[in-house]
Amino acid sequence: MNKWKLFTAKEIRPAGWMLKQLEIQAKGLSGNLYKVWPDVRDSAWIGGEREGWERVPYWLDGFIPLAYLLEDEKMIAVAKRYIDAILSKQEEDGWICPCKKSQRAVYDTWALQLITKTLTVYYECSGDERISEALYRVLKNYYELLKNGEIKLFHWGKFRWFETFIALNFLKEKYDGEWLGELARILKEQGYDYNEAVELWKTPLRVWRYKTHIVNLAMMLKAEAVSCDLLGGEYNDTAEKFRKILDEYNGTVYESFTGDECLSGVSPVQGTELCAIVEQMYSYELLFAYTGDNRWAERLEVLAFNALPATLSEDMWAHQYDQLSNQIACEKFFMKTPFGTNGPSAHLFGLEPNFGCCTANFSQGFPKLALSAFMHGDNKIINALMLPCRLNYGGVEIELKTDYPFENKVQYAIKTDKPFDFIIRIPSFAENLKINGKNAETKDIELHIEKGETAVEIEFETPVCLKERPNSLYTLKKGSLLFSVPVSYKKKKREYTRRGVERKFPYCDYEYIPKSAWNYAFCGGDFSVNYNGVGEIPFSESKPPVTVKANMCKIYWGHRRYFKTMCAKIPKSTRPLSAPKKIELYPYGCAKLRMTELPLADK
Ligand SMILES: [Zn+2]
Repeated sequence: MNKWKLFTAKEIRPAGWMLKQLEIQAKGLSGNLYKVWPDVRDSAWIGGEREGWERVPYWLDGFIPLAYLLEDEKMIAVAKRYIDAILSKQEEDGWICPCKKSQRAVYDTWALQLITKTLTVYYECSGDERISEALYRVLKNYYELLKNGEIKLFHWGKFRWFETFIALNFLKEKYDGEWLGELARILKEQGYDYNEAVELWKTPLRVWRYKTHIVNLAMMLKAEAVSCDLLGGEYNDTAEKFRKILDEYNGTVYESFTGDECLSGVSPVQGTELCAIVEQMYSYELLFAYTGDNRWAERLEVLAFNALPATLSEDMWAHQYDQLSNQIACEKFFMKTPFGTNGPSAHLFGLEPNFGCCTANFSQGFPKLALSAFMHGDNKIINALMLPCRLNYGGVEIELKTDYPFENKVQYAIKTDKPFDFIIRIPSFAENLKINGKNAETKDIELHIEKGETAVEIEFETPVCLKERPNSLYTLKKGSLLFSVPVSYKKKKREYTRRGVERKFPYCDYEYIPKSAWNYAFCGGDFSVNYNGVGEIPFSESKPPVTVKANMCKIYWGHRRYFKTMCAKIPKSTRPLSAPKKIELYPYGCAKLRMTELPLADK
């Protein structure tokens, strides 16, 4: 049983910096993909000739909540047009994917699993009653085809079987039917058991495998939480067991794993694919809702406030396939690529660098984050993430004002026509916590709110610290924010057309060519914090909301062998080459070129 239930876009409205970020997203690629990208614009899902598999459902999975959170009528109409077209093609027996009957056995039904998740998201946003019946028919047909052996799980569908459970859990609430439980069992039986892959995760192979594929793993972390109720098993916290091993052998400072695009070991110069970041965020949102365990929410914050904005351009028209924590340039490699299995442009900012999955899939990141701010259960409401927004639910209104994570003051204006219990999740790193100006004795905050109006103010401190990383490197951290030495750069625009896909400003590719030094080490622990306030672009490169000055000196770091635009994994020397001076570090999400994992200089 879920400890917390999620709210929908009908109940949560973004405000403050979260609203600004979602508006940028709507004006950028997510909000315009259906106009500029053939695989969404002319997809077979809506009767066109282009891709009829994962790209439209991936994009809609984020575009739909974005449209409803912003109450943007035009975007809502576009979403409806796509959903209408998809529903109109549903066949007599329930099959919904754009593939011929004779092709069903060779169609990888990962896309079917994904469209059921997307349709569930559409129902939650729109309340469109056609969806329940359509989903019932899709999954009943899926059950029959799988049971009769007419189709089988293979490739992605085999490794992502649990994605079907978003829709299955939704249907279970609405319909009785033994077949729902039977379908759940067939999926688990035919699906891959990741316990068998654990040994493989301990040695990066530099070969492509479903079992070490970073996006599969990011999705898989939620598998037990979403499936165990229907399967009738006990919850055993397998997610934590898997996460720990993945982190030990492939962990990144931004709470993900190296995967370019399969696991690549512990290194600040291997990348992580963007799809993995947004899928891991979604997994952690659901893991927090299922378990109520603070650790999932804290890891989610690190992904959402660092890894996600860092790998998107400020205007959200361009994104990277792979981001690196020590990223001194985003220039195309020649002859060789340093990535495990990705091409030489995977770290460029652009329309579809390396491959187009992230182009469609990144849309879900910020909207689903905004939807996780509050959760509820049993006459209780929890503020799970301190994101500026308004909640309106069953006679309760909560307005949450804050610039968190950039500052640590949070105000709640509550109006309610009935009493309820209000829980505020306080991060474990918060210090000197105050509630309404008084020192709090505990971080377990549960307030009984009476009928009427109540104001609550929370304030705390997040000290600056150096977090130890493998290879004797350190990252400056303050609360959920990581800080990097920003490297200034020149943008080089690349406009061209390849295989019928046009890259034209603002949806073109960019190379980022470094202009400033990056070879630094920390000298001592004297840090000073500057708050600049959140501007129109929350993760601004030119005016970051908060910066930290640290004493640093230059060292001889050197380049990775064969690569002139990538630094070595670890510095060649930590002997100071210059006197210490104050360097202003930026939030990781504001520094597109950056050094994040740095050594301590020799004394
Ligand atoms: Zn991707």
